[in-house]
Amino acid sequence: MFIGVDLGGTNIVVGLVNTEGELMESLSLPTGRERGFEAVTQDIIKLARQLMTSDVAKTDPVQGVGIGIPGIADPETGVVISCVNLFWENVPLRSVLEAGLSLPVFIDNDATLAGLAEYELGVMKGVKSGVFLTLGTGVGGGVIMDHQVISGKHGIGSEVGHMVVGDSDVRCNCGRKGCLETFASSTAIIAYAKKHLSDHPESILHEKIEGNLDKIDGRLIFDAAKAGDDFAMQAVRRFAHYLAIGIINIVAVIDPEMFVLGGGIAGAGEFLLEIVKEEMEKEKYFRSVPVGKLCLAKLKNDAGVLGGAFLAKSRLKEQ
Ligand SMILES: [Zn+2]
Repeated sequence: MFIGVDLGGTNIVVGLVNTEGELMESLSLPTGRERGFEAVTQDIIKLARQLMTSDVAKTDPVQGVGIGIPGIADPETGVVISCVNLFWENVPLRSVLEAGLSLPVFIDNDATLAGLAEYELGVMKGVKSGVFLTLGTGVGGGVIMDHQVISGKHGIGSEVGHMVVGDSDVRCNCGRKGCLETFASSTAIIAYAKKHLSDHPESILHEKIEGNLDKIDGRLIFDAAKAGDDFAMQAVRRFAHYLAIGIINIVAVIDPEMFVLGGGIAGAGEFLLEIVKEEMEKEKYFRSVPVGKLCLAKLKNDAGVLGGAFLAKSRLKEQ
């Protein structure tokens, strides 16, 4: 049995997962991030301890814990280097949890672990290598090869959102300009629509937002594009264009078997998928050679917890 933890800005979810990847039981609490590192980690320990002593864990004891964080951690020291959402910087997450649980603890980025869950149980099941991209307020990534997540020597690998894909005056949260995240996130497409909507009085978006630009969100833009609105389609096309550049850049480095789109924007479904495929076709190099298949994520809310459990399972197997 393994414990997977999905630590988000809003909720802490802790789940008990068996060797087959079935979620047996889960518990959650509001994160209450304003309470700080100590209080949040004590809650994780409390929930995990509760699961460790549950009936199902008695016959098959918990061997390890995997935790997904909305940030980056040093894989060697287990120190969370940065977790902007939780206001954490250089906090010793692994050592605190290991001391509290007397179990080995493994940490990785939440998008990476959601990708690992898709690889083990979801749409990537059966492929050898895959890359998961979460398209939400930012762009996260997970690179998985041979059942292992690839996060690099310093824990900042697979940060696909910070790959530079074009010229831009918009500065990314990371400090650079031109990152994928500044073109292919909900934040980016909303900012683009807000900036240019006044040049397109014919757009149906005007009517939808009743003159209030703050009402523009990703779903509204994609729905308008689906309904045939030229301006919304232009925004979606731009989004897909830069996403395709990012995907083809990943091809240039690792040429994986599959790419998976997840996160809020992936809710646009097949409509988004087809446009990104068209843009990928334009960006491809060695034109006669195929690139990895583009798919939509399959797992929903449990992906983070399951990914955490798979991380613990794969790391313990290595040891
Ligand atoms: Zn960046």
